[in-house]
Amino acid sequence: MDIKEKDNKINLLEYDADGLKPIIEGLGMKPYRAAQICRWIYSEGADSFAAMTDISKADREALRESAEICPPELSERIVSHDKTEKYLFSLQDGERVESVLIPDEDRLTLCISSQAGCALGCRFCLTGAGGIRRNLLPHEITGQVFKTERIIAGGLAERTEAGLPAKITNIVMMGMGEPLMNAGNVFEALKRLMSPKMFNISSRRITLSTAGIVPGIKALGDSGLNVNLAVSINAPNDEIRDRIMPINKKYPLKELIKALKNYPLAPRRRITVEYVMLNGINDRVEHAAELGRLLRGLRCKINLIIFNEHVGSEFRKPEAASVLAFQERLHNMNYTAFIRESRGADILAACGQLRGISARKALTEAPPGV
Ligand code: SAH
Ligand code: SF4
Repeated sequence: MDIKEKDNKINLLEYDADGLKPIIEGLGMKPYRAAQICRWIYSEGADSFAAMTDISKADREALRESAEICPPELSERIVSHDKTEKYLFSLQDGERVESVLIPDEDRLTLCISSQAGCALGCRFCLTGAGGIRRNLLPHEITGQVFKTERIIAGGLAERTEAGLPAKITNIVMMGMGEPLMNAGNVFEALKRLMSPKMFNISSRRITLSTAGIVPGIKALGDSGLNVNLAVSINAPNDEIRDRIMPINKKYPLKELIKALKNYPLAPRRRITVEYVMLNGINDRVEHAAELGRLLRGLRCKINLIIFNEHVGSEFRKPEAASVLAFQERLHNMNYTAFIRESRGADILAACGQLRGISARKALTEAPPGV
C-alpha cells in the first residue's frame, strides 16, 4: 500500500537524491538519513516507513507524521491477449496518463507518458486528437516507473509462473505527449531514472521519441544525457509530412535531418527512425526509395510501424504486401528496417492509441472531433 494518510504531507517522491537532504534535515533528522531513506525507497522498494529498520524509531515516527511516499494512483489496469499491460494512472490533481508495459522474452519495456495529451495534433494519433492538457512534472514521469515497479512486485509469483520477466529493463518515452515540448521536466526525469541512487537505469536502455522538435533535439544532445533517440519521420517528403504532421511546417525535414545528423551519438548507437505506414498515403515502394535517399548519411535503423486503426480514424492500415515491399526496398538500399509488431492493440495500448481515459470508454467512444 502507498503511504498516504493525510494531505499536506511532504511527498518524498518529488525530490531527487540531493533534494531529499534539506527536506530530511528540515524534519529534524541527521543529513545522512536522506541517503538511507533514498536507498529504502528506490533500491529496497520499501512501502512503509516502518520497514526502514536501520532508521531510529523516533525518526520513523517523524517521517510518518510529516512525509509520505505518494506515487500516481492506479485507476485501471488492463491486460492484452499478448500480455501487454496498460495502466491508467491518476495524478494528484485528478489528471490521468497512461503507461504500457510490454514483455518480451528477455526484456520488459515500460512506455511512459511525458504530457497529459499532446499539442502537436498529428492526424493519425489519438493522443493528439484531444489536445494538450498539461505538462507532467519530473516526479509524475518517474512516478509511472515507480508505481509500475510496485505493481510488478505485487504480482511477482504469478509473473514468474507465467514466464514473464519481473524487472523493468527498458524505458521508452513514447506514451502520451511530446517529450521535447516538456524538455526541462523530461530531462530532469531522465536524470533521476539514470541516477544510481534512484532508478539506476542505464542510458543505453532509455529511448526518447520525438515528432521532430529541432531545438529540443539540440538541447537533448547538449544535455549529455546520452539516451537513445527515436524520431517519428512518418513521411518521405515535406508534402506528405505537412499533411499528416502539422509540426513539419515549423521544422521541415531538411532542418530535422540536419539536427539528427548533429546529435552526438555514442559509438555503435543509431537513431531509430519511426515510420507509421498509412494505406495509400506513404506506403508505396517509391516512398521507400525516397525515404532511403532522405536518410542517406544518417546512422539509423528504421522501424516500420503498422498504423493502428481506431474509432473514427481517417486512415487505414497498409496491406501486408506493401509493408514487405517497402521493407525490401530499404534493405536493398542497405538500411536496417524492422516491421514493428503492434502490441496491445486490442486494449488500445498500442502506439498512438493512448487517450488517458478509462478503457471501457476508450473502446466504445469516438475521440473528440470525430
Ligand atoms: N510524441 C512522440 C512520442 C509519442 S508517439 C512522437 O511522436 O514520437 C509514439 C509513436 O507512435 C510515434 O512514432 C507515432 O508516430 C506513433 N503513432 C501515433 N499514432 C499511431 C497510430 N495510430 N498507429 C501507429 N503508430 C502511431
Ligand atoms: Fe503528439 Fe506524438 Fe501523437 Fe504526434 S504522434 S500527436 S507528437 S503524441
